[in-house]
Amino acid sequence: MGVAIVRSRALAGLAAPPVSVEVHLAGGLPGVNLVGLPETEVREARDRVRAALQNANFEFPARRITVNLAPADLPKESGRFDLPIAVGILVASGQVAAATLDRHEFAGELALTGELRAVRGALAMVLSARHDGRAFVLPQASAAEAALVPDATVHPARTLLDVCAHLSGDAPLAKLVAAGAGGSGASMPDLADVRGQHQAKRALEVAAAGGHALLMCGPPGAGKSMLAQRLPSLLPPLDEDEALEVAAIASVAARFDASRWRDRPFRAPHHTASAAAIVGGGSPPRPGEISLAHRGVLFLDELPEWQRHVLEVLREPMESGVVQISRAARQSAFPAQFQLVAAMNPCPCGWLGHASGRCRCSPSRVDTYRARISGPLYDRIDMTIDVPALPAGEIATHAPVGDVMSGEVRVRVAAARARQRERQGVINARLSVGELSRHCMPCAEGRELAARAITKLSLSARAYHRILKVARTIADLAGDERIGAAHVAEAVGYRRA
Ligand SMILES: [Zn+2]
Repeated sequence: MGVAIVRSRALAGLAAPPVSVEVHLAGGLPGVNLVGLPETEVREARDRVRAALQNANFEFPARRITVNLAPADLPKESGRFDLPIAVGILVASGQVAAATLDRHEFAGELALTGELRAVRGALAMVLSARHDGRAFVLPQASAAEAALVPDATVHPARTLLDVCAHLSGDAPLAKLVAAGAGGSGASMPDLADVRGQHQAKRALEVAAAGGHALLMCGPPGAGKSMLAQRLPSLLPPLDEDEALEVAAIASVAARFDASRWRDRPFRAPHHTASAAAIVGGGSPPRPGEISLAHRGVLFLDELPEWQRHVLEVLREPMESGVVQISRAARQSAFPAQFQLVAAMNPCPCGWLGHASGRCRCSPSRVDTYRARISGPLYDRIDMTIDVPALPAGEIATHAPVGDVMSGEVRVRVAAARARQRERQGVINARLSVGELSRHCMPCAEGRELAARAITKLSLSARAYHRILKVARTIADLAGDERIGAAHVAEAVGYRRA
């Protein structure tokens, strides 16, 4: 016959467009001509496939072999196509039966011994392929994540020989069934672990209910990081589709963790992280921290220590919920609907305003320190709170002060979010300016209060809009359709110069 077409997938952002691997054998000088891969990768792929075939005791055809990866304009990493290329050569040369070939898709890198190595993005590939009704053959190390996709048929294979025995019907591969559960959320840290800080906990609840960006300001050791780490436990659990989307991002980043895959993500990159590490990049493009935090929390500690240009790149995705990465005329999009929580010390030493009086920072140093956070980023933060040092008495308490458990807060947050969804379809933080007048207008008294705050705190229009959104969330938490003066007053309290 001399011809075989094998189906596989490329990766473009989170999408996995189909690739057909066409193998053609012809007379003439023996050799391998590989079309559709970058030149540098062609030789490696050719060598791996040749060695794997020979080590599995197959014959490498002494004919003119042409392999075409179509369509030509997709980004293609060579490794993942080793298995489909090898299968194509075996079928085209009549060494493996072709009967069931069309009912399968394949991806996997071959070791020289014929063993299959993991590929990046297996879950994303199977998500894209699930409605095509074909079974996916994957390296064992990649199969578990892929099997999480409902209705998908995933066959884990250890070696090229296993795959061939499956296709010929001699020894069918097992069909992997997803373990389902995993990541119940039980492992997430609980709000009850944090002593005191009742105001901060209240602010965290408001932030969770409306999806608001939050900045915490306080001395070292006050519990800012502990509080931030507990925000995911206050958010409603991910539904099936959300969890799969989050898992697909982790899979493309080669960071999938089966034990926590249903948990809301919490990412806390260090302040020395590069812009590429934060928004994503590389070739082929991989998701950055803001996409790994999709549908979860991105925590930036020591906010003034971050390089300004790194913070600047956050602004666009904070508004759009998507990040576009351009690489050599090719665009990849990754979702990035994260909730930002940031923390900072009040001054370079951290103790400004503390009763001990141990801060020696000059006013100009304090100003310089605070000015490092750019105005445009600060404008996108909905709520700012102080997290003061704990009084000595409170630290000494040994009894559990867990007066608020994450579980109770999560119930209130879920109810407030349900009100938002019913009223406007999105959480309050994502309301557009146009929607504010429809959904976020306070009562007369509240409007008056907001107007006074604008003058007194000389707030920008953007800051005013954020107060309205936060007031809306506070009313939602209280179960009030009407936004009262008390709701506005609390919201203004979260907006300080
Ligand atoms: Zn200081």
